[in-house]
This record gives sequence, C-alpha cells and structure tokens, in this order.
Amino acid sequence: MPESNLLQVTELTKHFPLGGGLAFKPQAWIPAVDGVSFTVSKGESFGLVGESGCGKTTLGRLILRLIDPTSGRIIFDDQDITELSRSQMRPYRSKMQIIFQDPYSSLDPRMKVEAIITEPLGVNKLLSKSQRREIATELLEKVGLRAIDLDKYPHEFSGGQRQRIGIARALCVRPELIVADEPVSALDVSIQAQVINLMEDLKDEFKLSYIFISHDLSVVHHVCDRIAVMYFGAIVELAPNEVFNISPRHPYTEALLQSVPLPDPHRQTKPFAMEGDVPNPLEPPTGCAFHPRCQYVFDKCRVKTPPLVAVASDHFVACWLNQGRGL
Ligand code: SF4
Repeated sequence: MPESNLLQVTELTKHFPLGGGLAFKPQAWIPAVDGVSFTVSKGESFGLVGESGCGKTTLGRLILRLIDPTSGRIIFDDQDITELSRSQMRPYRSKMQIIFQDPYSSLDPRMKVEAIITEPLGVNKLLSKSQRREIATELLEKVGLRAIDLDKYPHEFSGGQRQRIGIARALCVRPELIVADEPVSALDVSIQAQVINLMEDLKDEFKLSYIFISHDLSVVHHVCDRIAVMYFGAIVELAPNEVFNISPRHPYTEALLQSVPLPDPHRQTKPFAMEGDVPNPLEPPTGCAFHPRCQYVFDKCRVKTPPLVAVASDHFVACWLNQGRGL
C-alpha cells in the first residue's frame, strides 16, 4: 500500500441473511455490498454517492467495523483490521469516527452536551473530568458554538447546531478518518452549506480524511477530491471530482448529474430518462444491474456483468459502452 494511503478496501462484500434464525438456515442471502475496492489517501475527501439502497451506508459501516464483512479486506493505517476482535479494534475506534445523518436521533436527549462530546473519551478512560471539560469547550468553540452550551441538552438546539455537536463529538478523540453518512441531508438547505463549510475548515485544521456518503451528487461534488458512484452494491464509476464536470462515462452517473444543476456552463449532457427503481435484491437482474433502467442498453448488457475497468489512469467505469459491445 502506498505510504500516503490511509485506507485500502479490497473486494469488500456484505450479504445479509433473509429469514432463518438460531435454529434455521436463512431463506436467502441479500447482497448489500458486492466486491467493492478503493483507497482513501491521507487528507483526502472521498465521496460515495448513489440512490437509497445502493449499499453506500452499509459500506461505511463495514469500513468502521460496525458490521462484519462477508468477505474482502480492510487495511487501515497499514494494519489489516478485517478480522480484529472488539478489544483489538479499540485503538482503531478513536482513529475512525462517524457523523450520522440525523442530528435529532444521534444525540442522546438525556445527556448534556459536555457528556455527549466527551463520551468517547469517557469510555476510553483517557483523561480526567476537568481535562475532558476543557477539550469539550475547545471543540464546541471550533464548531461555532459557545462554552455555555456545554450544560444544555440536545433539544435546546436547532438541527444545524445539533449536527455541529455531532461533529465535535467525532473530533473529540482526534480521529484520522471520519465517515460522514448523509451529514447534511436532514438539514435545511440554508444550513447545509454552513455545515459543509465547517467540515472543510476542520479537515485542514485536524488533518482529517473524509468518506462522505450522500445520495446528493451536488453535496459530494462540492466537498470531495474523488467520487465513487455506487449502484446495487457495486462501484460503477470512480474518478476525480472534476471528471464529473467534463466527461462522466457511466449512464447512471449521467442520470444522477441530470438532477444536479452544476454551475458549469460548458457541461452538456443529453436528456436522460431514468425510469424504475433500484432492483429487488431477491431478484437481481442478469448482466449489468443497471440494464433495466438504462436507455443505452444492448444485448450484451443483459447477459454479462461489466467489470470496473480503467478508461484513464485515475478514471474507472463499469459499462460495456466503454469496453466493447461484442458478446
Ligand atoms: Fe447501460 Fe449496458 Fe452500460 Fe449497463 S453496461 S450501464 S446497461 S450501456
């Protein structure tokens, strides 16, 4: 792994059991993440984008080891963490934090802000109470709140302020990687930009890397250095951010971009009608998973799954349009 890589994910796969129980075998296995590979460099903001149900949130939780993968490897800071036990994972928990989507449900309403922010420190028994309060004060001010807010409860704050508290909590243990799972989608549009700008400022100050998960390509486009587009558990396009302005190559990316008013008068895309929903995992399509919704579909798409291949040194696409139409 190159020295600048903080995270390397290789062929990561997660299948969830359907039905069954302690004494019974599952009726089926539902693929949520299917053979995903990518790296995140130190200091990079990496975007995962796709519709609801595409597997991006499951992928974020796999990386954090909040759930166990079915197969594949996760290398973090040169250490293979794929099969570490709970106790072996403890040193890595502080290096990898999460910011949740919903600032209302992600904060315990019975806890004061100081306790919420310093909870990771308390669990790890790292510092005294006075030291923890000092850190909480500093972090609260970093995220744009005031020291007097330490003794308040979550219900006394707006949605944007609660998300700032969530960000302060994630920063408390000085992580290297933050997985931000739809961190602004529950906020008013006017507040979204403030929170995103705050996260960008904190990234440099705290030397963070982000995995930014969103269904909204415009949000990811604003924040990330590289973007991976996910569809039905797999990455279908992976490229530097600017490529998505100029030459996106996957029809699904094209469809996502159609719904985003990007401030680029030079970007021209053809009208694209994306019909239907993400496929039922119990009845996955044959061939390319996107073929039932793709306006460019041809025979090969219905029978063969296109692999993710390089179309430029840093641009990868899984589509037969880029790899030859012959069967
Ligand atoms: Fe569309 Fe075929 Fe490309 Fe799939 S492989 S995205 S169906 S053109």
